[in-house]
Amino acid sequence: MRVQEIPEGDVAAVVQTGPGVLELERFAVPAIGPDDALLQVEACGICGTDAETFSGAVPLRYPVIPGHEPVGRIVAIGDRAAARWRIGVGDRVVLQADLGCGRCGGCLRGDQCRVEPGTLGFIPTTRPPSLWGGYAEMLYLPSGAVPHRVPDHVPLRVAALYNALGAGFAWAVHAPGLRYGATVAVLGPGQRGLASVVATRAAGAAFVAVTGLGLRDGHKLALAAELGADAVIDVEQDDPVDRVLAATGGEGVDVVVDTTPHATGPVLDALRMVRTGGTVVLGGLKGAGHRVDGFPVDDVALRRLRLVGVRAVDHRSFAHAVRLLERPPAALAAMHTHHFGLDRAADAVRCLTDPSKDAIAITIEPGA
Ligand SMILES: [Zn+2]
Ligand SMILES: [Zn+2]
Repeated sequence: MRVQEIPEGDVAAVVQTGPGVLELERFAVPAIGPDDALLQVEACGICGTDAETFSGAVPLRYPVIPGHEPVGRIVAIGDRAAARWRIGVGDRVVLQADLGCGRCGGCLRGDQCRVEPGTLGFIPTTRPPSLWGGYAEMLYLPSGAVPHRVPDHVPLRVAALYNALGAGFAWAVHAPGLRYGATVAVLGPGQRGLASVVATRAAGAAFVAVTGLGLRDGHKLALAAELGADAVIDVEQDDPVDRVLAATGGEGVDVVVDTTPHATGPVLDALRMVRTGGTVVLGGLKGAGHRVDGFPVDDVALRRLRLVGVRAVDHRSFAHAVRLLERPPAALAAMHTHHFGLDRAADAVRCLTDPSKDAIAITIEPGA
């Protein structure tokens, strides 16, 4: 076992004990065996899922340390874990959110089975050794964790975008089978929409359009252009379907990725702006009970459209995201807009959902 300066004493962590209730608590530093490791958390990204678990819209088994997008340095690692993951003490890594048994076929391929012990930020602290979430000074890595090494030259807050970027590759490149030279429309300029721009550009898309809601999304649309979008469409000013059709000679784009939350109108827009035989990726959750009135079943059949649902990020997409982070586009750093200390975790989550804050990507940082 290799260990470096494991701090004496205890570990501070943010514990959610009920909907909207976060408390700072202290836990013992876990003992590490041959197959596991301990991460000193430097930053933990937050996304829409954090807002849903914080409010209670997505229920948790309390008490739980939230946070499924951690970046940190290995401070202790067992010999077998070091050999298997090819990492050592002092290395900076990011983690796939899903933990697994570490033994089944899925886990060995890097697509964790999630049966045991579950997903980072969703495992109660009553399960030893308690440190299962990223809103903490330290995080426990069981044998079924999947760390990806990030080189030291990557700025911490850029590295913390790995989960959003992973979704960009999973949703906008791998799920639709994006080809080099393809045309793409991304609906919604949030973390995942912007990450979809970066990922489709990196994968060789020839044309990328992004939609947003005028004033509220102005800074995000400007960033989308800096990240390589060819067209940014303010849907309060322009009909996105007209704009996309005009930009593609009336044909429509090969791939549409809907990342918009709540709104169902973009789903109908997507079906109208995709080319015959094209693919519509449905990534934005609309909330339980939502229906799309006027869903054009015949149009989908006659135009041979492909609809693909997506959720979370697979191993290949994480690997591509980390590869991209090694040489990130210059504008990527501007996706990170806010950071908060552990003691302000609730403010961090509220900031993400407050339209007046112009937030895109936010980190919680134990050292802040
Ligand atoms: Zn997330
Ligand atoms: Zn497994």
